[in-house]
Amino acid sequence: VSPGFAAAWREVAGDPGAAIGAPSTVPTADDVLARRHDVLAEVQEHYYTLPPRIERGWREYLIDVDGRVYLDMVNNVASVGHAHPHVVAAGSRQMHLLNTNSRFHYRAITDYADRIAATLPEGFDTVFFVNSGSEATDLAIRLAMAATGRPDMVAMREAYHGWTYASDAVSTSIADNPNALSTRPDWVHTVDAANSYRGKHRGADAARYAPEAVAAIDELAASGRPPAGFIAETYFGNAGGVALPDGYLREVYAAIRRHGGLAIADEVQVGYGRLGEWFWGFEQQGAVPDIVAVAKSIGGGQPVGAVITRREIADRYRSGGYFFSSTGGSPVSAVIGTAVLDVIQREGLQENARAVGSHLKERLERLAAKHPLIGAVHGSGLYLGLEFVRDRETLEPATAETAAICDRLLELGVIMQPTGDHQNVLKIKPPLVVTRASVDVFADALDRVLTTGW
Ligand code: PLP
Repeated sequence: VSPGFAAAWREVAGDPGAAIGAPSTVPTADDVLARRHDVLAEVQEHYYTLPPRIERGWREYLIDVDGRVYLDMVNNVASVGHAHPHVVAAGSRQMHLLNTNSRFHYRAITDYADRIAATLPEGFDTVFFVNSGSEATDLAIRLAMAATGRPDMVAMREAYHGWTYASDAVSTSIADNPNALSTRPDWVHTVDAANSYRGKHRGADAARYAPEAVAAIDELAASGRPPAGFIAETYFGNAGGVALPDGYLREVYAAIRRHGGLAIADEVQVGYGRLGEWFWGFEQQGAVPDIVAVAKSIGGGQPVGAVITRREIADRYRSGGYFFSSTGGSPVSAVIGTAVLDVIQREGLQENARAVGSHLKERLERLAAKHPLIGAVHGSGLYLGLEFVRDRETLEPATAETAAICDRLLELGVIMQPTGDHQNVLKIKPPLVVTRASVDVFADALDRVLTTGW
């Protein structure tokens, strides 16, 4: 043990004694919680006044250090559930065999790339592996710029695409990204958030968003800056799973292509079976992008991200050098990613998302009829949003109420989080293995909180 390591360990754990790493010297959760303010950057503690001290997970449940069980209704990273035996076995077998950087040629990575490409429409034949959603959207933007030789990008306002330089530059969500680059680079151009519930065009008028975005792209091209691409989530995730207006992506993708640019779909939140009827969000829109960025759910908790595109786009990028990520697509990531996809396909989790999701949506709609605080129920499959408003006409966001409701739900054993630029939306995205009985527990708990007060 190096002196530097021992000192760092002592910082966190107190005096480690002689046997560093022996069970008696492992810090308790209390130690970690007490020290996290000193040693960690802020870890989204705004979700709870007192974050739960989670130690273990199983299926759609999380278990804290005192053995208390919570229903995890927000974890789209643990797509196939916590500690799925197939994923655990595959990952640990590979850990015993080999885990190294991605320079070597091993079969698991090509098999995995083939499996992912097979979930996409014809023509998506080239996969880049990275480690997160931010890296995936960042790389997608760079691919579009390299393939077109242009610097400008069009993005939707109020979106969140990540924290790395390029992904942060196209993220204009206030709530998720308060420290976003204060001076946005001049290659970023934004169009209105196509939020049919809260945007400037409500309800039927939402059809006006696409022509406005198309006009903005046309204008940019006419001014001599035809954009390299358009990036958007295929579902309005930051707003709590609001579906884009019908045909929005089809029209905007057509406009960007008319001017020689590329369409980028950020599927980091919604893709991979979560929407139930559609494996990918762009399928719901009847649109096909040129570049797809995916992460979160594909790794089932392991940091895995991917960018999938067509060979000619990938080649334009690689002709300027080569792409290399030390741990992107590592043997363990590739094997775990494959195991996750096995589970989704073998256990019919897309179908589960459809059936359990539509049951939950119906229950939430019944709650909306009873509790005026619920302004709207958004979403499809197991990607649902519940928007709290003080007034259904003015849509005044019920921000403080939403935070208090999440705290009450936590007391009742349900993990939920506020989201959106007004922090007034519950974004419901449980592991895809969640059962009908579990979502009933959530709906009952919510009913109780809304009836008895928060
Ligand atoms: N894109 C979307 C739509 C996201 O919601 C997120 C994360 O929340 C990201 C990209 C960034 O992913 P990551 O946190 O894995 O870097």
